[in-house]
Amino acid sequence: MLTADSVWEECLVVIRDNVSPQCFQTWFTPLEAVTLEEEEGFSKLTLRVPGPFHYEYLEGQYNLLLRTTLTRVLGEKNRLSYEVVVIQEDSRPQETQETQNTYQVPASDSVGHHKPVPQPEPTAPSVVKSQLMENYTFDKFVVGDCNQLAYSVARAIADLPGGTAYNPFLVYGGVGLGKTHLIHAIGNHILNWNSDKKVSYISSERFTNDFVQAIQEKKVQSFSRYYRNVDVLIIDDVQFFGGKEKTQEEFFCVFNELQQNGNQIVLSADRPPKEIEGIEDRLLSRFCWGLQADLQPPDLETRTAILMRKANEIGLTLPHGVIDYIAQNITKNIRELEGALVRLLAQATYTTQTIDESLAKNALKDFVTRPHAMLSIDRIQRLVCDYFGIDQNRLHEKTKKREIVQVRQLAMYLCRELDYTHKAIGLQFGGRDHSTVVHAVKSVNNLIETDINYRNRVADIRRKVNLLT
Ligand code: ADP
Ligand code: MG
Repeated sequence: MLTADSVWEECLVVIRDNVSPQCFQTWFTPLEAVTLEEEEGFSKLTLRVPGPFHYEYLEGQYNLLLRTTLTRVLGEKNRLSYEVVVIQEDSRPQETQETQNTYQVPASDSVGHHKPVPQPEPTAPSVVKSQLMENYTFDKFVVGDCNQLAYSVARAIADLPGGTAYNPFLVYGGVGLGKTHLIHAIGNHILNWNSDKKVSYISSERFTNDFVQAIQEKKVQSFSRYYRNVDVLIIDDVQFFGGKEKTQEEFFCVFNELQQNGNQIVLSADRPPKEIEGIEDRLLSRFCWGLQADLQPPDLETRTAILMRKANEIGLTLPHGVIDYIAQNITKNIRELEGALVRLLAQATYTTQTIDESLAKNALKDFVTRPHAMLSIDRIQRLVCDYFGIDQNRLHEKTKKREIVQVRQLAMYLCRELDYTHKAIGLQFGGRDHSTVVHAVKSVNNLIETDINYRNRVADIRRKVNLLT
């Protein structure tokens, strides 16, 4: 006899193989199978989700995975529905049913018509084909110093696709910093105001796969025709075009045609164009024709703002101490920030504890890994010195030479980012006082704000540091 629990158990086995352990923990462990019912000849599984935010995230990121898995377990005639727990603002989350309001939502496209395909890429339960994610909008995008430029340009384009100097627009930055969100927001905005526009969003991987398939099925012409006729073409993660010569050739033609006709092209990449490997020069140079804007890791203020906004969206007021704790400890990117918040909410929902700092610390202990356990101050010094081609010993000297001082300050700054104390940093830089380190961090921040070249260099080094952490 199938029960909700047994079906869900089986699903979890499949899901576990398809996502990272952390993802699994955060997004799937908190789900609870509530009922398994017959409905119009379909088997309907209802899952309880700890909150609206969790629900949106699941639908946004794991929709396809969930649907495919369910089809595998229940067969084609399945439906998925969610029961979303809403925590009242001033009542503490409690375990008992009576104090939780829930509402039911069918999973979008809830009739399972997907074939139970084997998951192609363990980590890629990505956006469903060429569709825009509705919840990736401008008003859900928190703006701060780290993303101001990219955001403004994106808005300008969304208001006047093809009609600005920003064509193509390339947004680049590390993982989880909002590239996908921002370029979806452009598409959503355009469609909102003008539903006649043909907006196509696709990842470069998908574009590549579709193209290869079109070749095999001798449908290249219709493939080309489709893409040459869109008003707005949004391609995510173009670094995956690297090394795919045939696809690049095709894309090059599509690109030219769209450009000539004044249609908008929006691209994203995980690094600056000049660092993308395996892309032909002529295509690379075209990426740079319009405007490129980077997304930086969020600063403390932006992290705080994002947390407050997301908590607010769920209708939950978190104590300042908890917001501060998360904002200060989860620094790498916004996706992690969201994950942390959801983990916290999930935990809070299933215990009767108040959400306070100690609950936060406990719930987030896996998230808050101290990178410096692996990356020592010495290692950072070496990395930075290698980058600038200077001898590491010079960092310890008492010299006031500008180029050495700047490198030293930057190295200190990066150590500080990894949470070493001012004192510890000072000691390892030739026994300097902690106030020197404070000053260094300030200087670097000033430079970052005023000098774009410097800022790019810092971003570049930071990427190298991130690769090691
Ligand atoms: P990337 O494509 O750069 O890896 P995503 O666009 O997928 O990053 O963003 C990761 C998550 O963080 C998404 O859920 C997104 O909604 C959220 N996010 C990113 N930037 C912001 C922002 N500025 N404000 C609010 N949410 C954001
Ligand atoms: Mg992305």
